[in-house]
Formats: sequence, C-alpha cells, structure tokens
Amino acid sequence: MAKHKPCDHHPIYMKEGNNNFINMMCKLCDSYIKHASHYEQKVYEKYRMNNEHNFVTVKQCIEEAQELKAETFHLDPEQYIDAFGNNVIWLDVHYRNKELAKQYKALWEPRLKMWYTYVNNQQAIKLIEWMTQQDIDRVYDYRHKEETLNAQYRSIINTKRGTLEHNKEGIVDNVDNLAGNEPWNQR
Ligand SMILES: [Zn+2]
Repeated sequence: MAKHKPCDHHPIYMKEGNNNFINMMCKLCDSYIKHASHYEQKVYEKYRMNNEHNFVTVKQCIEEAQELKAETFHLDPEQYIDAFGNNVIWLDVHYRNKELAKQYKALWEPRLKMWYTYVNNQQAIKLIEWMTQQDIDRVYDYRHKEETLNAQYRSIINTKRGTLEHNKEGIVDNVDNLAGNEPWNQR
C-alpha cells in the first residue's frame, strides 16, 4: 500500500496488463499503482462515462471503491459474491480445520464469513474435501488444461533445442569441410 503514497493525489488511468489484469497507473508519473479491483474499475468507468475521468485521483478511486463495495454488499450480497470473479471457489471449512485450510492458501472473506480459494491456486487440489463436486471438477479441468499446455510448451522447447543441436553439428561439419578445402590440406 505504501508504494503509491507519493501518487495519492495524482490523477489515474487504467491500462490492461499481463494476464488480462487491469492496472491502475499514475497519469503524472506514469508509474504502476496496483491491480485495479473490480470496484476500482467500476468507479473509474462511472467517471469515464460522464467524461470526468481526467481528474480522478488515486486516493479518490480507492476510497470510492471501498464505499461502493460496502454498498453493494448491503444491497445485494449475491452481486457482491460475483465481484470476486469466475475463478472463485467457496469452501465449506469447519472451524477446526481452518489452520490446515490456511496452509493450502484458502482465504477468509470476513463479511460472508466464508472460506474461498481460486481455481488457479496451485494448492487448490489439497482443498477438495471442502468443495462441492462441481468445483472439484473445475479444479481438475483447470489442472488438465494447464498440464496440456505445459506439455505443448515442453515439446516446442525440445523441438527448438533439437534444431539448435542439429545446427551446431552442421556448423562443426562445415568447419571440417572448410578445413579440408584449405590448400595446405589438399593432396
Ligand atoms: Zn504519481
């Protein structure tokens, strides 16, 4: 949080970063502030629609997002849950297991008083005893897709490496041939 201190009163802009994250950037310093949360994006969008987004400051955006988040929860808890995104998996963790769940990167949502994790949590598979069957399937599907991708990357890398090795041998052969063609090596 301390990172964006000097920029607190500077205006912001939003920019798409890696992995489709939206980043909050300082318009003056052009520096990265933070990943924009769902609500921070909403606040910025509201100002943009009214063409008032040019002077929205970092502080203003973060604070208004906090308010919007609280309001949303009071008005419509379901919508509040949606704001966590499609990657969320809610966990039915008994109090006595909370330390274990925490160890596998389960997170606590204090308002809903519920544990959750994300489908892309590397340790999600260790939390399956607290998931619905549907969510277990989601975790396995995600894993399967990831492993398929990894296998594809590995094969691309190996093919590349093979080509490089092959070229290296080719170069050595050529050097030998060249040496053979030098006049002092002939006859
Ligand atoms: Zn700044």
